[in-house]
Amino acid sequence: MQSPTLDSQHPPAPKLIDACVHCGFCLSTCPSYRILGTEMDSPRGRVYMMDALNQGEIDLTPAVVSHFDSCLGCLACTTTCPSGVQYDKLIAAMRPQIERNHQRPLVERLYRQFIFGLFPYPNRLRLLLIPLFVYQKLGLQKLVRQTRIVEKVSPHLAAMESNLPELSLSTFQDTLPELIPAQGTQRYRVGMILGCVQKLFFDRVNQATVRVLTANGCEIVIPQSQGCCA
Ligand code: SF4
Ligand code: SF4
Repeated sequence: MQSPTLDSQHPPAPKLIDACVHCGFCLSTCPSYRILGTEMDSPRGRVYMMDALNQGEIDLTPAVVSHFDSCLGCLACTTTCPSGVQYDKLIAAMRPQIERNHQRPLVERLYRQFIFGLFPYPNRLRLLLIPLFVYQKLGLQKLVRQTRIVEKVSPHLAAMESNLPELSLSTFQDTLPELIPAQGTQRYRVGMILGCVQKLFFDRVNQATVRVLTANGCEIVIPQSQGCCA
């Protein structure tokens, strides 16, 4: 069965694609390329694939989609690129094309719904973290990792489990107020985004950021309602 290609709703702009001179400078800064080591998992490879998709030379097959899925969207490549390729705009145009024109398998669709319905919502995530907190404190995590039982059931879940940081009580409360005064003379007023996931898992990073900013004369405003920044 032939896979559909891109539709006419804002496909990656050929003008932006043509800015890539294929020099490869971006490869060394791209985390997906550094881990996977394949050209198609690099910025250059993805730009090349966008061009081929636009030209109808390749289809949106599961393999092609997997190379776009592996892009973290970190945009490290944009600052490295000597040719000024606006990869941010290209990948932003590409992702909706994939969602519209590629039918993912049911399990993958459910998995993605679970992720997108959970991670941008700290209050929902907190509820899930209660059993995970107990799981860690009772030492079950050690047992699960030793026996690799989750890996046998679901590699996706096992990958998530392996990334689960150590949870602490601060995970379950908002520790920072809306307004934090500068230490000494105020020189700046800055806004701070806590991050949906970071504020639960890496609260210490936010605490450290507050210490650095206030020590440098910043008054910090933390909007109490923060949406997903992805
Ligand atoms: S650094 Fe820029 S121009 Fe060079 S291959 Fe990467 S995206 Fe293309
Ligand atoms: S945005 Fe994607 S292509 Fe660019 S450096 Fe990050 S992972 Fe690589």
